[in-house]
Amino acid sequence: MGKIKVAEDTYLVGIGVSPGIGIGEVSLFDQRPLVNQALIETKEVDAELLRFQQAVERARDQLKKIKLAVSRQQHLREHLYILDTHLLILEDEMLVGGTEKAIRAQMNAEGALTQVLEQLRALFDDIEDEYLRERRSDVDAVGERLLRILSGVSERSIKNIGRNSLVVAHNLSPTETMQMDRSHILGFITDKGGRTSHTAILARSLNIPAVVGLESVTSMVFDRVPVIIDGSSGVVILNPSEKTFEEYRERQQSYEYLERELDDYLDLSAVTTDQVHIALRANLEIASDVEQAKKHAAEGIGLYRTEFLYLGRSEPPDEEEQYQSYCEILRQAEGEPVTIRTLDIGGDKFVPELNLEDESNPAMGLRAIRFSLYEGRLFKIQLRAILRASSCGQVRIMFPMISGVAEIRACKKILCEIQAQLDRAGIGYDPDLAIGVMIETPSAVMIAPLLALEVDFFSVGTNDLIQYFLAVDRGNEHVAYLYDPLHPAILRALKATCDAAKDAGIGVCICGEMAGESLYTLVLVGLGFHELSMNPGCIPRVKRVLRQISKQDGESLVDNLLLMSTSKEVSAAIEKEMRTRLPDIFAQPPI
Ligand code: PEP
Ligand code: MG
Repeated sequence: MGKIKVAEDTYLVGIGVSPGIGIGEVSLFDQRPLVNQALIETKEVDAELLRFQQAVERARDQLKKIKLAVSRQQHLREHLYILDTHLLILEDEMLVGGTEKAIRAQMNAEGALTQVLEQLRALFDDIEDEYLRERRSDVDAVGERLLRILSGVSERSIKNIGRNSLVVAHNLSPTETMQMDRSHILGFITDKGGRTSHTAILARSLNIPAVVGLESVTSMVFDRVPVIIDGSSGVVILNPSEKTFEEYRERQQSYEYLERELDDYLDLSAVTTDQVHIALRANLEIASDVEQAKKHAAEGIGLYRTEFLYLGRSEPPDEEEQYQSYCEILRQAEGEPVTIRTLDIGGDKFVPELNLEDESNPAMGLRAIRFSLYEGRLFKIQLRAILRASSCGQVRIMFPMISGVAEIRACKKILCEIQAQLDRAGIGYDPDLAIGVMIETPSAVMIAPLLALEVDFFSVGTNDLIQYFLAVDRGNEHVAYLYDPLHPAILRALKATCDAAKDAGIGVCICGEMAGESLYTLVLVGLGFHELSMNPGCIPRVKRVLRQISKQDGESLVDNLLLMSTSKEVSAAIEKEMRTRLPDIFAQPPI
């Protein structure tokens, strides 16, 4: 079906997942196979099963070839795990066994596979954790590869895409993203995708501007349509006018200039003008991303989300594997602290052998520490691995979603038991290992002075704190307008947490997304946080602001903000303050 000409200056807004400005021409990369679903007769079942099994074999060969090619490229080696995940998915009983079962029920291979993929998608949709939910894209990528093979669509390599192209795709698999050549491809935009998909993570690590979640952009464009994408704001402009081109060329130059300028901050310390040092640490999802943290001069890891170690596999990692993985991160951290958060999953989806029941309200169900204390066995294995690793470097252990004192006491009791076991076995660990809790539930804020007596540090998880405080599902786009970090209730919660930590003389960090937003740096320092942990790419920008503000000014600003009754007033006051203090950074529209 032909597409009508794209109107001049057609603006679209998606989710900007990797910053930078790309200006070029569309190269449509649509690999979606046309699926012919049909019923088959009993006598055709065996041949259809064989056709499906051959397709699985072929997909395995293709992935192994890509893996070999990728392993030869040093800068991509850290992402090889994605291909391993895809190879594992090809062995998944639900996918392969489920499809074979549907073929035996007289459906052709394409139809059977499509049906099973739908069921798997529905399972993933129920997952509360955004990152885990988006792992669905890996299953989709493997499913599409199989469907392409079954329907005879030949594999088009993203490597053959023309120079200076902006790739427009319905969805890009991590495998495709990882094969992109940065010198050829200026950016990409997709119909599907979310902020924490593997594809988004890769785009950031490859430094390719990217906007995802545009819903139907593939149906609006064709090859060679001029396009501009802004990976920070999520704006995409199809068929830009000469004036828009000019404006964005200037923005592109400013962005590149700013990036180069930010490099100057790498070797500078993170201190305010009144000489208060604020530790800027990195959040880590995948062990190999510790490279990124180092590249941006992070002072250690403020949050290691260990649930990613358990992902995309049928068996959870054993003690030895976890120990090795933690030690490797510690080795790379070169003496800086590594804060290991114990498993934070929202259900049983990724630990299938436990067979826990589905929950109707998983965000408030057997999640995080509740799951660990309920299940026990996995928790003890993880604690043993963390304790053993504590002799390889500076480990801090952190428990997620603590809502009462009894919970943290239960954790500490188990930790003591494991220390006693290690003592008996003559295995070393750091006896002074720091223990912390995530402050991310309203009850934890209300009893922060009591929790502070139990631990060495607090780390505020604003992503969940906002969700639970304001009763707004953090993954639901229909209530996203209520998800507000500057709500007076949130400011009060942050202040109460910092005050409790200060009174008890313990450390206080913030590791939710709010920490990486440089507009809030003055407020966070004024509230009393002395550690900010964030996506490593945000560190230079936050450091630049930090070095030009004082803690004292932050405290005065916070005193004022706490008198305000709406987030609109709070937000206007912060913007005004930052624009006045740092006009070179905040007076411009964000790049
Ligand atoms: C948070 O809730 O702010 C947090 C850092 O943890 P996660 O996003 O992993 O829930
Ligand atoms: Mg959380």
